[in-house]
Amino acid sequence: MSDFDIVIVGGGIAGASLGARIAAHARVAILEAEEHCAMHSTGRSAAFWLAHYGGAPIIPLTIASRRPLEEGWPNGERSLLHQRGAITIGKEYRHLWDAMSVETDAAPRRQEIKRPALEALIPGLRAGWDFGLLDSSCADIDVAALHGGCLAEFRRAGGVVMTATPLVRARRQNDSWKIEAGNDRLTAATIVNAAGAWADTVASRCDVPGLGITPYRRTIVQLRVGRTGLKDLPLVIDGLGKFYFKGESDNRIWVSPHDETASEPCDSAPEEIDVARAIDHFESVVDWPVEAVERKWAGLRSFTPLRVPAFGFEPTADGFFWCAGQGGFGIQTAPAASAVAASLLLGEGPEPFVAHIDPRPFTPRRYG
Ligand SMILES: Cc1cc2nc3c(=O)[nH]c(=O)nc-3n(C[C@H](O)[C@H](O)[C@H](O)COP(=O)(O)OP(=O)(O)OC[C@H]3O[C@@H](n4cnc5c(N)ncnc54)[C@H](O)[C@@H]3O)c2cc1C
Repeated sequence: MSDFDIVIVGGGIAGASLGARIAAHARVAILEAEEHCAMHSTGRSAAFWLAHYGGAPIIPLTIASRRPLEEGWPNGERSLLHQRGAITIGKEYRHLWDAMSVETDAAPRRQEIKRPALEALIPGLRAGWDFGLLDSSCADIDVAALHGGCLAEFRRAGGVVMTATPLVRARRQNDSWKIEAGNDRLTAATIVNAAGAWADTVASRCDVPGLGITPYRRTIVQLRVGRTGLKDLPLVIDGLGKFYFKGESDNRIWVSPHDETASEPCDSAPEEIDVARAIDHFESVVDWPVEAVERKWAGLRSFTPLRVPAFGFEPTADGFFWCAGQGGFGIQTAPAASAVAASLLLGEGPEPFVAHIDPRPFTPRRYG
């Protein structure tokens, strides 16, 4: 008999949220290479929920995740969202067209605004930024509470979390996987690949071909500025996709230069050029004096070639399931994505709140 029915590789939000959904149904372990499960992308996000983000196949996952996040899934203790609102801005009306192109009845309607309404929402907005698209539904997500809640629920239902235990190699023998992980030897009927930037590496360690999942670096810089009252400032997004920023505290801002540089899977670190670009863009939008760069970090957003996550069994190998390629939306989609993935993994009907979501776009190797 196998030690486990299912071994999930990766303890970030993908592995933890799926684990929370399935631990009561099977004997499950999460293998995490690091000492802590949120060391990589999950611990480095900008932590927002944005309805239209990621394009058509992602929007239903984001929208279906809203209610569970409001209700504090999985433990239901308190809402994990804090309403913020978002404004996409442009110097010309056509700069908003890309943002408008993903308008859909499935997501909350956005409202076109101009100065002076725009200036009232973003005080100190420099001249020329005349056009805006307001999305009041945008919210901050308490990522630590969501991720910690998933791991707690996973353990409560009998799941085993093994940190500092990287999957080194796995071979399929007699309908089960023989797994070398750190100093441990395990067997499991099914391996779930939720290894984020390392998803293709983990596949290759299991003799499974990769999906072409590529990690891209994204940088965030925390600035202290000579202006107060910024904590609940709307998320400000450039219509041309060159930056975004949001208030972090009364006089602190998180700014991203929206970088997307292909990277090896690694402990990602910011490049000075991206930090400089972030500050440059920020100063071109508002007149708030930059007093200090207090923190900077980078993380990896990992995409399949078509930028749609892969949830489902690998067609070329028995007992190998993909839960990878969550790009820049892995947190905001986690409640629904984990429910879709759990239904495919366990072969059971979907939970009612995701029953309307067609899982076929997420089929691994659907496009090649
Ligand atoms: C700067 C930035 C901003 C972002 N902002 C947002 C946002 O506002 N909203 C949003 O929804 N999303 C956002 N994202 C995206 C989000 O962070 C990711 O989609 C999500 O965290 C991916 O989760 P994951 O579990 O797949 O990856 P990870 O959190 O990276 O987890 C994968 C885990 O697998 C482990 N692992 C790797 N190899 C092995 C192995 N061989 N054995 C065992 N374990 C292994 C790793 O150590 C890692 O802990 C952002 C990302 C970045 C970088």
